[in-house]
Amino acid sequence: MSRSEELFQRAVLCMPGGVNSPVRAYQSVGSWPRFIRRAWGARVEDEDGRTYIDYINSWGPMILGHNDPRIREAVVKAAEKGLSFGAATEKEVEMAELICRLVPSVEMVRMVNSGTEAVMSAIRLARGYTGRDKIIKFAGCYHGHSDSLLVKAGSGVMTGGIPDSAGVPAGCAADTLTAVYNDSSSVEAILEEQGEQVAAVIVEPVAANMGVVEPKRGFLQDLRSLCTKYGALLIFDEVITGFRLGLDGAQGYYGVKPDLTTFGKIIGGGMPVGAYGGSREIMNHVAPVGNVYQAGTLSGNPLAMAAGYTELTILEKHPEIYRHINQMGEKFRTGMRSMLKKFDLPYTITGVGSLACLFFTQDPVTDYEKAKESDTNAFASYFMYMLNHGIHLAPSQFEAIFFSYAHSDVDVVETLRTAERYFSQFRSEKNGE
Ligand SMILES: *Cc1c(COP(=O)(O)O)cnc(C)c1O
Repeated sequence: MSRSEELFQRAVLCMPGGVNSPVRAYQSVGSWPRFIRRAWGARVEDEDGRTYIDYINSWGPMILGHNDPRIREAVVKAAEKGLSFGAATEKEVEMAELICRLVPSVEMVRMVNSGTEAVMSAIRLARGYTGRDKIIKFAGCYHGHSDSLLVKAGSGVMTGGIPDSAGVPAGCAADTLTAVYNDSSSVEAILEEQGEQVAAVIVEPVAANMGVVEPKRGFLQDLRSLCTKYGALLIFDEVITGFRLGLDGAQGYYGVKPDLTTFGKIIGGGMPVGAYGGSREIMNHVAPVGNVYQAGTLSGNPLAMAAGYTELTILEKHPEIYRHINQMGEKFRTGMRSMLKKFDLPYTITGVGSLACLFFTQDPVTDYEKAKESDTNAFASYFMYMLNHGIHLAPSQFEAIFFSYAHSDVDVVETLRTAERYFSQFRSEKNGE
């Protein structure tokens, strides 16, 4: 038995499903998690000493590659001065100034400890600011696991087939209205009926938790004008896209200005960090200046700020990082696309910049319903082959592939070759050869 299997047998006895986050379970691909003991660059190594080219990248934060020495050193240096003070620090000011400089729609920011917390707080702020209770979200978009957002959600809840979690009070879910991604008329229909009760429309500007679904041309602009018209706030959940599609995230990439933005993942450089921000006018409603309460014992933690600040300053200083990760994404998508054509496979490759997804469905994937048409058994078989041949993908059809600066041309070519070997075998099986 492998070390990973052994650890998993112990883990399931003392942790639900053997994991601390459901997306790490291999349930949907019929296997057990590979326990990782270290990582560097584009590689992770499991407890059995097997190495993999990693496309999970801690779900996005490791945009520079794993264990970047500059970030590690910044964290060690901060640790020498103390792990946490629960008091104001200089690094928090530098971090806030940096975020406000990089993201023009953000004039003030509040640091928190996770993406979930960032979104939950932004929703509370939108409600407090507008004096309205309802929010609109899109089916298949994931915004963390707070009560009002676990309604038709993506990511692990989609993989596990529990898009509406138990334990969410009906009254809470009733204030969350769901619309169809890439269909602004579905938002307009809700706003026409109950616009004066809607505090906010929240969206992943690139949906990256139901696989990767790009916004259609005009979709985000339509949301902007609808929100302005009905007095609702537009919230971009940029926990994945922030500092990934560019320094100013998806809002810069698509040229649409939200009222509030939430961050996570990259902003912490691998440490547990989230943030939400927006105009001075709106942010001044947050306590202690305003009456929307939100707090955190470890918020702005010195180690976390050191990691995040170092990562963001490196990204700012080196525009070639974005050029490289986008090129890797493009190379992967182009290679996959021509392979699908070569083997006449009814699958779809999607993505933008350094995000990609291979959907095991033929139709263009524009929303949750389309994504759900994917053949998850076919995905599982592909996933296991890739894993057994050294490619570490997220163990779910409904997650993104993340490219980092550490992925090289050679890595992408090796990944494509491995996929090609799998698909050529799959095709001969299909043809009964
Ligand atoms: C990951 C994610 C979250 C939740 O962040 P956590 O740090 O896991 O709480 C929220 N929104 C989006 C878009 C995400 O991808």
